[in-house]
Amino acid sequence: MAKLDMDGPFPLEEEAILRETGQPMPGSIALGYLAANRSFEVLYVDFADSTVQETLLKCLKKGIGKGGLFDKLKGKNPINAFKFSYAMSVEASYQKSCKNFHEFGGSKKLNNKEHPRPPRGKDWACDRCTAELSANFKIKTG
Ligand SMILES: [Zn+2]
Repeated sequence: MAKLDMDGPFPLEEEAILRETGQPMPGSIALGYLAANRSFEVLYVDFADSTVQETLLKCLKKGIGKGGLFDKLKGKNPINAFKFSYAMSVEASYQKSCKNFHEFGGSKKLNNKEHPRPPRGKDWACDRCTAELSANFKIKTG
């Protein structure tokens, strides 16, 4: 069973974001659906290249991570909550978001249209993708 290893869930509201994410640090976030029984369904993962708080406020204001109209018609759950974790570096938060992206089903299951991308100017490769590539390479050449 995939595990986020994050704090939360908290309601995706400005007040909760300001209250819970006061540390000016980068980190990883997950947006999702918090059911009445407190179970949390991950629907979108991302990372903060500045601060967790800034990224969450941007998601809230711009509706980032929400499913499209088609998802609504299919009865897919709406985003109403978030989880987050701080990281010591932006690269660490990027790698954690990549790991979550893979473990929670990638673009097929998440609202993420594509794999998380490193910030502009960085050429970090996702550890998980790199491991898969080298495994395939070994099979082909082995
Ligand atoms: Zn990857």
